[in-house]
Amino acid sequence: MEAICECAIRAGLAAVAFTDHCETYLGADACFAVKDALLKEVLEARAVFGDALDISMGLEIGEPHHDTALSRELAGGSEIDFVIGSVHKVRGEDDFYFIDYDRPDISDVLRKYYEELLELSECDCFDVMGHINYPLRAMSAKQAERTDLSVYGGPLREALLSLAKGGRGIEANSHCLKEGPDGILPSLEVLKMFKDSGGKIVTTGSDAHTAPQVGKGIPEAERLLREAGFEKISFFKKRRPV
Ligand SMILES: [Zn+2]
Repeated sequence: MEAICECAIRAGLAAVAFTDHCETYLGADACFAVKDALLKEVLEARAVFGDALDISMGLEIGEPHHDTALSRELAGGSEIDFVIGSVHKVRGEDDFYFIDYDRPDISDVLRKYYEELLELSECDCFDVMGHINYPLRAMSAKQAERTDLSVYGGPLREALLSLAKGGRGIEANSHCLKEGPDGILPSLEVLKMFKDSGGKIVTTGSDAHTAPQVGKGIPEAERLLREAGFEKISFFKKRRPV
């Protein structure tokens, strides 16, 4: 965490949010162990870097809609600043990171992804939906090229409407920039769709899993959000956008 904070300051960031993963399918003990360990480190980091960097205590809950009681409990508590809600896997399947995108029923699995995004959008235990179109990140360029995500636009549009209506947001995630310049998730088209749905809350995230990735691609994410018509980017303190 010390290295991450140092990199964030060097990258010119005013603030950073730590959002370690709590996958609901791993159960309450595993999730609370992650949360407790993270909080301890965040408090230590604030004591060292607090003057130079605003450090937000967050969580990324995987599949909150699979266990809403656990997710509410995780997201509760005055120490939590920010909660990302994500779909990494759909019921009965592995994480999209491990899926075989050449399997014959891949369109059914992808359809389930968008249906579960809609289900997630109706949960009240997160602030921002993480990395929409996540399967794209795990596909090869060839597989991505032959995958037409527009056929799943129905449930996606409904999910974005539901988020906007509920006062929740989406993130522009620049994690894929490590693979190429077009790596912001979701695309400009989806960001615009959220804006047209009445969405107001957007955040940027480099989704860094190592210190050197911190802040990578944030200027590109900001540019894309501006192009989609957003004038403000939020940072969360105590579960409120600032
Ligand atoms: Zn994630």
